[in-house]
Amino acid sequence: MALEYLKKASLTSTSNAGDVHDTVIAILNDIEAGGDTAALEYAAKFDRYEGNVLLTSAEIEAACALVPEKLKADIRFAHDNVRRFAEMQKSTVANVEHEVVPGMIAGQKAIPVDAAGCYVPGGRYSHIASAIMTVTTAKVAGCRHITACSPPRPDVGVNPAIVYAAHICGADQILAMGGVQGVAAMTFGLFGLPRANILVGPGNQFVAEAKRILFGRVGIDMIAGPTDSLILADSSADPHIVATDLVSQAEHGYNSPVWLVTDDRALAEDVMARVPGLIADLPEVNAENAAAAWRDYAEVILCADREEMAATSDAYAPEHLTVQAADLDWWLGRLTCYGSLFLGEETTVAYGDKAAGTNHVLPTSGAARYTGGLSVHKYMKIVTWQRATREGAKSIAEATARISRLEGMEGHARAADVRLAKYFPDETFD
Ligand code: NAD
Repeated sequence: MALEYLKKASLTSTSNAGDVHDTVIAILNDIEAGGDTAALEYAAKFDRYEGNVLLTSAEIEAACALVPEKLKADIRFAHDNVRRFAEMQKSTVANVEHEVVPGMIAGQKAIPVDAAGCYVPGGRYSHIASAIMTVTTAKVAGCRHITACSPPRPDVGVNPAIVYAAHICGADQILAMGGVQGVAAMTFGLFGLPRANILVGPGNQFVAEAKRILFGRVGIDMIAGPTDSLILADSSADPHIVATDLVSQAEHGYNSPVWLVTDDRALAEDVMARVPGLIADLPEVNAENAAAAWRDYAEVILCADREEMAATSDAYAPEHLTVQAADLDWWLGRLTCYGSLFLGEETTVAYGDKAAGTNHVLPTSGAARYTGGLSVHKYMKIVTWQRATREGAKSIAEATARISRLEGMEGHARAADVRLAKYFPDETFD
């Protein structure tokens, strides 16, 4: 049965992808050729900032002193929750070994990348929580060099609370630089920074595209661009809570899609009637973002039953997925594509965004079809090793020589032959 759209988006996350790609590639090329000077020119152009970019200890201390004590306590509370969740995740990464055949031991080790570059967005809002999410997780993973990078406000610099959060979570360096130029500085090792082995963190479409283009030269966590959110709600949902949650996520930006998927037409109509009033009630800038997101990107989809709702949600593969419906265990078992799942009215995406402990750096634009969000695992290389006794490798050597010859790879075959001849001189092998 075809889905019924009570509201359809006029734009999608890929609507201006070509323009963004061209802009980003030009900036990256300029900065790779022009180094520090070119990066500083883009900082002046996009962020109207010409101050010091690599914060000194004195500047970090001064910024921290500006943060109110209550906010510091909240940041430490969120940091503790994110750190403990990341530590639990790390405990699931085992260094293990396995005897493949008697005498042939193969193992797996998890090794943290050396240098992590953590992007902390700060154009529209000061994403203090992103500093906590990215830096804390890198620290728990065991990265030796952690750079936090965030856009400065014109003439002022990085928000002091972001500096405080990055500092207490374990950043070794803090770079006051945003967008493509910040990502480039960490990748190319500008301003004396170590070249990042991995770039992590969310950002706008320019940041996400820069990470996508640079992937291969540097690792990335995932594409974490403009936020998207989907709510699955049935007749048991409270329309006021559903509408409030939709608006809370539309606030992220003019291009942040929110989707409501339901099997209850009356609920859908009730929610749609409430949203404009809730948006209008927000502070002006937030209301502008949310209104544009609701107008151009939001969708309300009516399904026949919960199975169709689940299938629709999996096809969208949202970054944030909320279920406000009966039988939460059924949904937990059935749903397969999402960055983070929020089960029941008692929790909300905002909790996960700020302080609940799960990471808020999550896959957007359908990337949840193939990846989860940021975790210690993203900073860790799962590598393998092997060691053998002469007797233990004998059957492996024989098979290797035969497979290699069949493939036409004589050099490989001889690497096995030479060992068989050395260790078993009295035997013949075919
Ligand atoms: P940002 O830090 O990502 O981007 C700001 C930078 O964009 C500026 O420093 C500037 O250099 C650059 N920029 C702006 N206009 C440009 C242009 N025309 N050309 C080239 N560069 C330009 O901050 P933001 O813009 O507020 O975006 C934050 C984003 O992060 C939002 O889209 C939000 O939804 C997203 N987010 C995603 C997640 C996630 O996990 N997916 C989490 C939090 C936030």
